[in-house]
This record gives sequence, structure tokens and C-alpha cells, in this order.
Amino acid sequence: MPDLPDTRPRRTFAVISHPDAGKSTLTEALALHAEVISRAGATHGKAGRKGTVSDWMDMEQARGISITSAALQFAYGDHVINLVDTPGHADFSEDTYRVLSAVDSAVMLVDAAKGLEPQTLKLFRVCAQRGLPVITVINKWDRPGLDPFALMDEIEQRIGLRPTPLTWPVGIAGDFRGVLDRRTGRYIRYTRTAGGATRAPEEHLEPDAAAAAEGQDWHEAVEGDELLSADGADHDLAAYRAGRTTPVLFASALSNFGVSTLLDLLVDIAPAPAPTPTIDGGERAVDDDFSAYVFKVQSGMDASHRDRLAYVRVCSGVFERGMVATHGTTGRPFATKYAQAVFGRERVVVDRAMPGDVVGLVNASALLVGDTIYAGRPVRYPPITSFAPEHFAAASVTDTQRWKQFRRGISQLDEEGVVQVLRSPARGDHNPILAAVGPMQFEVVVARMEAEFGAAVRLEQLGYTVARRVEPEQADEVRGIRGAEVLERRDGTLLALFPDVWRVRSALRAAPHLQLHPLPASG
Ligand code: GDP
Repeated sequence: MPDLPDTRPRRTFAVISHPDAGKSTLTEALALHAEVISRAGATHGKAGRKGTVSDWMDMEQARGISITSAALQFAYGDHVINLVDTPGHADFSEDTYRVLSAVDSAVMLVDAAKGLEPQTLKLFRVCAQRGLPVITVINKWDRPGLDPFALMDEIEQRIGLRPTPLTWPVGIAGDFRGVLDRRTGRYIRYTRTAGGATRAPEEHLEPDAAAAAEGQDWHEAVEGDELLSADGADHDLAAYRAGRTTPVLFASALSNFGVSTLLDLLVDIAPAPAPTPTIDGGERAVDDDFSAYVFKVQSGMDASHRDRLAYVRVCSGVFERGMVATHGTTGRPFATKYAQAVFGRERVVVDRAMPGDVVGLVNASALLVGDTIYAGRPVRYPPITSFAPEHFAAASVTDTQRWKQFRRGISQLDEEGVVQVLRSPARGDHNPILAAVGPMQFEVVVARMEAEFGAAVRLEQLGYTVARRVEPEQADEVRGIRGAEVLERRDGTLLALFPDVWRVRSALRAAPHLQLHPLPASG
């Protein structure tokens, strides 16, 4: 691991996509086009291709859960790019939201044949809530797919973002030869390489040469470009940054087509790390003293690293390994000797990190999701919004001899944010309710409770689907509503659980003075 001399500007983004749209293929292709900084053992060429990234995918698939969410860092020209991994499974979990709090923009990957899929839509909604600008990549254009205009319509209709294509395909889906670069009017012609193992050669041709080479297909692409312009679908930086439009590229991650255009675009238009809003309503400038916040905590990742990792995103200043930072919540000093970059099983030491970078802090048992660490001038960042749980299950230990392990395990998983744990005097500590945004979070709890804490748990799914925040002085009254239950979250918030929204409405009709505050929606 070279000492990063890197004060190069950062671009920190995540790829959002439905499973199978090609996220890992694109990740590998991006890494191929760039110089990987913090992926240990990365080699270019075919042997290296099946390396780290695939291992990490194998693990995810073998366990059926997302093992890690870390960042892949690479240099591209005079920029450093951080690709923060989003959980790769179809189910939704709170991790997804947290990861998206650590990036400055997103790339939405769409399968050309399938169009927008459920997971893409959900993830997109989180991006919209976070105000993240989105670049759209229509992938797998080397295979038969939908009509490009139909895809543009779908994006506009279903997610309400105006697509502004920057490239437009020459030839139909499945017959991918190149794209018209709408900003220069030139033809970018791709050449296939065996196995896609090396960078795909690109040629840039003037329109006349393109017309001579491609004939009718070129003329149709030019016509498409004119139709888009007439319709006002031209790229506008301010509208993209404000989340009103999404620049679109056509690509084939598998053949490495369009990948360098995407990198150029990220460097060109994606936002750099910006000042971070602080808990007191101000903001911390990027060049202020060091600060970072924890967006993910994870432990027991794999057999060889059974420890606890806190992933922080650097918000301001320069992180230097070994520096003593202050933990915002407790005010205690926090040693940063064991700073690492993690991608799958690979870990490398991180000596320095800049705003926008992600650092994994090993054995950071004091750090919880949402915590701030800083050096110099104190700062606190607001907690990461936790989203409305929609799945609820009562947990109990199957072997009462293991009660202590049960209690310890449940608290730790609560602190890590694997699930939210809700308690009430009526249920006692023996029977807390676990609340999740996606049911897979429960599977993770069951697996980890047994494997790591030696306490097998029984989960009883409950019929609640809605949680509302309750004012403390109204808690007793809400407790009296039939079919509802009031519990306390770790942060002290009181939540009332209801079977469905109809019960919420009928409770409010019966007692209009009650305040049942909706929680942030999970989409
Ligand atoms: P992920 O689940 O989003 O990470 O998707 P993968 O990267 O694993 O890709 C899913 C499947 O689609 C794999 O079989 C890939 O080889 C294939 N794939 C990915 N990108 C392309 C592409 O551009 N063209 C074609 N034809 N197949 C692709």
C-alpha cells in the first residue's frame, strides 16, 4: 500500500441497481480503466479480473447476505474515485440507506432489456430523499433490449427525472457498434476485445466519417439526437445537480463499452465532497480540521477477521493514521492506529484519507452508526435518518440457559444497526420486538445470534406493518388503542405499532388530538 500522496480531487459515488443489472461487472470494468489504489492484490489483465471483486461476490452469494459494504478506491487521471458498495441483494435493509448517506452522487444502472426494476426504483427514491444527483447508465446494450426512446420515457414517467442523454446509440440494442457523443456530435466507435479483459479501444470519428462508416444507422442516431434536442432533453449541469434531470449513457459493462465515458463524466460533472451540515444547523467546510462520521458498523465479517469494523466517511480535513481523534458522543479520545480500507476479504492499511474517502476502523467498539469523530475544532453531525420499519418480529431465546448471551447479542446487533430493537415493560427484556425495513435483516439476526453469540433465537412474526412516533405524554392513551402497542427504541423514541394504516386513521378519527407522527418512508 503506497502512502497516498493524494490530495487529488475526489468523486465519491455508489452504483444503484437491481440485482443482475451488471453492478459487479461494471465495478470490475471501472477498476480496469483506472489505477486501483486500495484494492490489495489487484492486477490488470485476465488473471486479475477474477480476483478480489469476484471473491467478494462469492461470499455474498454463499451467505445470501451482504457481507461488507466498503469502498473501492481508484485513481483516474487527476482525480481519485471512491466507489462505495451498496448491498447486492434484492432485499432492502437499513444498510442501503446508510451507504447512500456516505456518497455525493449515484450511478443508476439499468438493464437495457428489463428497464426499471423494483430495486432500482426503491434505491432511486432514497437518492431523491438524500438529494443525490443521479447519472443513468443503460447497460447490456450489446444484447437485444428495449427501444431507447421507450427507456427514456420510462425513466421520466416512473421516477420523475428528466433524462438528458449524453450519448445515443448507433444501431439498435444487440448491435452495439458505438454511440453518438451528443456534446461533440462525433461518433465514438467501439472495438470488441477478447473477453473484455482489457480496455476496449475507442475511436472518435467526425460526422462525415461516421456517416460513411455506418450509413443509415448513423443517420438515425443523428435524427434521435435532433428529436431529443427539440424536446429539451439536453444536459444541464444545474438541473442535474439539483436532481431534476439525469444524464444518460449507453454502455456494455461486459465489453467495456462506455466505461471510460462514464469515468470522464463522473470527473466532469459529479459533485465533489461538499461542506457537511452539522447538528447545530451550520456546516463544516471540507478544509476544516479532520472530521468523519460512521455510516456503517460491522462485525464477524469472516472467519479470519472476527472483529468489529466501523466505516467512516471523511467529511473534512485530512485523516492520518495514528492521529488521536475525539469521539463526539462520549468526548473520549479515539485511537486510529488500525485504519484500513476494506473490500471483500482484502484489507489494506490506510495511512491518509481525504474528504470523500472511506476508512474502516478496526475494533472500534465504541463507535456506532451516526457517530462523529473529529480532531481539533469540535463538530457533531446529525444522526443518519433511520427509515420506517415495516416488518416486526418478537424475539426470544430458545434455550433459557443462554439468556445472557441473548441479551448481549441483541444489544450489540441493535447498536450495529442490524435491526432496530424495541422494548416495553409489558414484554420485558426477554421478548423484545425487532423492527426492520426488509425481512432479510431478520435472517441476519438469526444467523449471527447463533454463530457469534451462541444464542439460538426464535422469531415470531407480528402482524404490524406501520410504526408511528408517539409523544411521551400521549403514550398511555395510545397504549389503550385496541390492536396497537407502544415500545421504546434505543434512542428513547416511543413508537406505536399498528397492523395497518387503516387502524392509524381510525384511531385518529376517534381521538383527533392524538399525534401519531409518520417516520421517514422507506419507499
Ligand atoms: P449484479 O448482480 O448487478 O452485480 O450483476 P453482474 O455484474 O453479476 O451481472 C449479471 C449478469 O449480467 C452476468 O452474467 C454478467 O456477465 C451479465 N452482464 C453484465 N453486464 C453485461 C453487459 O454489458 N452485457 C451483457 N451481455 N451481459 C452483461
